[in-house]
Amino acid sequence: MVVRTQSATHSGPHGATVEIEASLQSALPAIVITGLPGDVVKESRERLRACLAGLGFPVPSSRVVVHLSPATTKKQGSQLDLGIAIALLAAEGKLDARRPIEHCAFLGELCLDGRLRGVSFALALAQALDRDPQIDHVLVAQENAAELALLESPKIRAFSSLTEVLEWMEAKSISPAKPQTIVPPEVPPDVSSWDQVQGQMLAKRALEIALAGHHHLLLVGPPGVGKSLLARSAASLIPRLDKGELIELVKSRGFYGSGDLWERPFRAPHHSASLQGLVGGGNGAQLECVEVTLAHGGILFLDELPEFRKDVLESLREPLQNGFVQLNRVGSQVILPADFLLIAAMNPCPCGYAFDTKRPCYCPPASSSAYRRKVSGPIYDRIDLCVVLGSPQSGDSASRDTAARVRERISRVRRLRRQEVGTGPIDLAEGPFALRGDSRLWCENLCEKNHLSFRSLHKTVRVARTVADLEGRDAIEVADLQEAWELRCRDFWK
Ligand SMILES: [Zn+2]
Repeated sequence: MVVRTQSATHSGPHGATVEIEASLQSALPAIVITGLPGDVVKESRERLRACLAGLGFPVPSSRVVVHLSPATTKKQGSQLDLGIAIALLAAEGKLDARRPIEHCAFLGELCLDGRLRGVSFALALAQALDRDPQIDHVLVAQENAAELALLESPKIRAFSSLTEVLEWMEAKSISPAKPQTIVPPEVPPDVSSWDQVQGQMLAKRALEIALAGHHHLLLVGPPGVGKSLLARSAASLIPRLDKGELIELVKSRGFYGSGDLWERPFRAPHHSASLQGLVGGGNGAQLECVEVTLAHGGILFLDELPEFRKDVLESLREPLQNGFVQLNRVGSQVILPADFLLIAAMNPCPCGYAFDTKRPCYCPPASSSAYRRKVSGPIYDRIDLCVVLGSPQSGDSASRDTAARVRERISRVRRLRRQEVGTGPIDLAEGPFALRGDSRLWCENLCEKNHLSFRSLHKTVRVARTVADLEGRDAIEVADLQEAWELRCRDFWK
């Protein structure tokens, strides 16, 4: 007799149903798992044997073949433990199931004493099972319950041990499914670091434009002028995550986390970060720890940009362009979402005082330009805005705009243009990026004078669109284009 039940596997944030089949054969007792099981799945044979024996089920009594289909997909992770245990018990005739096990799906790691442990990427796995019309119930570990409540699915039930699961399957205890609802807490944003930065009006304006329109930003300036403070204030200036974004984020990073989960991610990896750590390159990288994915939907802050390893910086080209990273691993390909806003900071020269009015810079010109060239052209090319910050002046005061007003403007513009954020070509004749009259003339002049490529022109117009939105204008005007062009900070690269 063949018994069937369901579980799931995942490739990064993409879950898929796995059918577990078990069949007894008359041969010496053994558990054989087929269907490309990974190392953790292979080990589950010993775990399950010990766990089930402890609960009074000495299995297997003969040879059991457990097959995981589709056979061509590699199955990784400990989430299959529970489903395989149920299939083994059913095949041995030790489960008096009142519920059809082929329409139940199981996710959970089994401890040797029968407790159920939560698994990583539970949200991706459970979402795939929840959407499968063949599946009526998804049984998960209690440890994953808070995370899975985000799905608000009536199919999902949480249990803390195998015994509880068996009791439910045998209809000895029926706990009605109560979909929980999750309401984001009202937390006032921490805008203290924005208010701490004195002066730096141009940088603050650039940051506001960057956050409103999702334009990558580079802050250049001597040490101690507030580059890091400004970058750190960024996450508090954009609206908190909504539920859909939180689900995306938890799915992609593979774990629920703790603390205020609705806060925008802000990741600031050190410049000694490895390729594996930043973009998940190499085969051994843990998918849960890839910085660009942890920053998905939020901000990636790279301080001291030229100090990052060249190959690490180059690897950012793909996520900056596409909003995801593609990892090629042995036998599989994983796509991880990585749609973040890049805020980078750097000194203009090795000593840091090249553009400073108060302190002299003694760096030889060749070393200054070599320092800047450590960051390649294609990376600079993907940065939309660049501002040079000077030393604070004695008359500088806090910004005339409070953080609350800036936040409000940014939220308004993000609501307006969210769907048009992107890097592809834009239509300059029709639609929101249309240039008319003086604006068109101004752009034609600009292209002629500066031999501007289409790509550079489109980038400038995109920024100008955000400026016009911040000012509440329907059409892009010359002033918007001028401001966008100034914020390209071309002089810095000469
Ligand atoms: Zn210098």
